[in-house]
Amino acid sequence: MSDEATCLFCRIVRREIPAKIVSETPDTLAFRDINPQAPQHILVIPRRHVSSLNELDDHALIGKLTAVAADIARKEGFADRGYRVVINTLADGGQTVDHLHLHLLGGRHLKWPPG
Ligand code: 5GP
Ligand code: ZN
Repeated sequence: MSDEATCLFCRIVRREIPAKIVSETPDTLAFRDINPQAPQHILVIPRRHVSSLNELDDHALIGKLTAVAADIARKEGFADRGYRVVINTLADGGQTVDHLHLHLLGGRHLKWPPG
C-alpha cells in the first residue's frame, strides 16, 4: 500500500477524515490543528504527499505554503500582532505526521527558544 493511501493528511485532503478547513488553493490545504497549542493553530499542507522537508523537490511549494499562512493570518486578524510559522522535521524536530506541514501559530505571545 502506498504512503498516500494511509497518510493521515492525505486522507484529510481526500475528505476521508473530517477537518475544520480554513483555506484551499490548487496546491495547498489549510485546516485547524486538532490539539491547538495557541488560540490560532492552523496547519498548511501541500495537497500532494511529501513526507518531510527532506523530501521536498519543488521549492516553489514552500513559497506557496508560506504565502497561504500569511494570508490566513491577515484574514483571521492576527497578522499585525505577529505569529510563528514552524516546520517540524523528523525525530529531533518533533514531526509526528509524515506529510509536510507548516504550523501557523498566533493569538498569544509565543516564547523563544522553543522547548
Ligand atoms: P507535527 O508534530 O508532526 O509537527 O504536527 C502534527 C500536528 O497534527 C499536531 O499538532 C497534531 O495535533 C495534528 N494532528 C494530528 N492528527 C490530526 C487530525 O486528525 N486532525 C487535525 N486537524 N490535526 C491533527
Ligand atoms: Zn500524505
